[in-house]
Amino acid sequence: MEIDLTRGNIERVQTDPRLTELHLGGLGTNAKLLWDRVPAGAEPFSPDNLLIFSTGLLCGTPAPGANRTIISTYSPQTLFMGYSMMGGFLAPELKYAGYDKVIFRGKSPNLVYLWINNDKVEIRDASHLRGKGAVETAELIKQELKEPKAQVAAIGLAGENRVYMASIEQGRSSASRLGLGAVMGDKGLKAIAVRGTKDVNLARPAEFMQLCNEVLQYIKVRAPNLVPEVMPILAGLGSPQEMAHVDEKWHTENFMWGNARTRRKEFWTKEIEEKWKGSLETVRKRLISCYNCPMKCGAIISAPGFSTYMMKCFTKLTYTMAAFVDDLDFGFKIAQQATEYGVDGFSMPQTMAFGFELKEAGILTDADFAGCPSDNEGKFYWMLDRIVRREGIGDVLANGTYWAAKQIGKGAEAYAHNVIKKHEQLPLKLGMLNPIYFLMYCTGEKMNITQIEGNFPQAPFSTMELREAFVKDWVQAPNDKFKQWVLDWEFRGERSMPFYPPVEACCEIVDWQEKMHHIDDALGLCAGLSSFPLKPPYHIHNLPTFISSATGMDMDEDGLTHIFNRNRTLVRAINVRRGLRRADEKPPDDHWKKRFPELETQLLDGYYKFKGWNHEGIPTKESLQALGLDYVAEDFLKRGILTDNGGDPSKETSAETKKK
Ligand code: SF4
Repeated sequence: MEIDLTRGNIERVQTDPRLTELHLGGLGTNAKLLWDRVPAGAEPFSPDNLLIFSTGLLCGTPAPGANRTIISTYSPQTLFMGYSMMGGFLAPELKYAGYDKVIFRGKSPNLVYLWINNDKVEIRDASHLRGKGAVETAELIKQELKEPKAQVAAIGLAGENRVYMASIEQGRSSASRLGLGAVMGDKGLKAIAVRGTKDVNLARPAEFMQLCNEVLQYIKVRAPNLVPEVMPILAGLGSPQEMAHVDEKWHTENFMWGNARTRRKEFWTKEIEEKWKGSLETVRKRLISCYNCPMKCGAIISAPGFSTYMMKCFTKLTYTMAAFVDDLDFGFKIAQQATEYGVDGFSMPQTMAFGFELKEAGILTDADFAGCPSDNEGKFYWMLDRIVRREGIGDVLANGTYWAAKQIGKGAEAYAHNVIKKHEQLPLKLGMLNPIYFLMYCTGEKMNITQIEGNFPQAPFSTMELREAFVKDWVQAPNDKFKQWVLDWEFRGERSMPFYPPVEACCEIVDWQEKMHHIDDALGLCAGLSSFPLKPPYHIHNLPTFISSATGMDMDEDGLTHIFNRNRTLVRAINVRRGLRRADEKPPDDHWKKRFPELETQLLDGYYKFKGWNHEGIPTKESLQALGLDYVAEDFLKRGILTDNGGDPSKETSAETKKK
């Protein structure tokens, strides 16, 4: 579905089956559209920028957890390709209405929403929804349409005001990272409402149902069977089970409080545990799942005095920890407002804490904070409002820590210390360099570690007995080399971090983890059942069969790997064309205390070589051609990003040179 918001034009275009063969769907075909149709230098807030809501290839089929909506555009924060996924119900509903993607271009002169009711599609006035919360908007639209079963994705005030951390909220999930809500607001699009009642056909339905049943059977056995020695939220399946777990010792004592600075090692006491348990059990009404999934990762939250909303994941803690509040109730209450405003629960709390640090440092003044309460809770509510409304200092902070620091000057840049490619990261500061994570942090195209990491253990197991037990039924491992790396990996000695796993192994491990994420994002599968946990039901050995039996396409592991390489390289090419270079690929300076510059250079060199990229991280002509991306090679040659002699003569050394 093609929507021109400037002209109010609606057009249905048949999906090109050749594109499906080359890129599958979801993220892969989104990348192709962005490459083909958005000028390389287009500003995120230009009418030329596209905002694509995409289903994945398997969405709408009975595959458990195939419910992701993949939203892609140019991010106002990083200026690179921004893609964020959300669970919930939108993508299957779109498929049932008969659409693979909705592609928005242009800008509407008035605030509007899109209503898709199977074949009937309308752009409707949304001026009465201006300023309304994202959850409230969804309810109002359903009432207005008299369609309680419609699925609605909406932005709140943050998106309308083009706050760089604005999210797109959809009932039980959100696409939060990289400011996609700001692009939606810039386009004058308040919401999309969808109702679909058609069928989705499968090529070989009996075989497909058999595969789905095997996945469900596996989930039944694996989900309660926790991997020992792994933190509670990662030991099972699903996205981190924050709503089910009370034990937050690991997060509260290992993650940083405030502006990603302060570790509170003795925080988690019996008393806090009791108190937090009480808070969680009071506000949590019931656990809930996304479409067609048994995992129940989210919860309906109803805090006294606040309207009901849904919560999942680490946002439970981010506001509490950023504000140094010891009371979990605060987190649940402020998150309700943040959800209505539609903001990213990772970046927003950190940006607020950054603002208060600047005040303490005397870089921002009392005048900037006129009217701000003095208590920690009050301060954060006040700041959330200022940022979302873009009032006073909030107007500057609404651009996130990186851009705000640049605008404020006076040394503020030293306080924006936790970003990669201009994007706030998890508030995590560690001791010894982890070579696998080093590579993922540097090179991950999503700029967001939780959406890159996954199937390989984060740390060695403490005993050989545990390692052997882990690899024994590790059917998901690509091959026996991976098992050997787990068996050999130790806490101390020769085979410990940072020099173990060795560089070549790190490259393969990172490649495997990002492969799984890219496949999920093309198929519309939830990472919580595939690329994120240890030992998931979906893996590289069974996914080709899912694709074949659903679509009739011939697919095996090599074929799927080839498509992954094509999609991953195309995303990189989009970013390279927008200025991404080696100098941008670095973790926050203080992410690890113990750094090893020589090893880090070897890791980056090794990874680039493994991927077929040159010293600057630019895919070479040969590797592009091998993936059928000749048109990218030609474009790079024309622009001087590559030369025919294989050198890397690009004059731009970093996206840092690009000024907004
Ligand atoms: S695993 Fe969790 S997040 Fe993923 S689809 Fe299921 S309920 Fe949703």
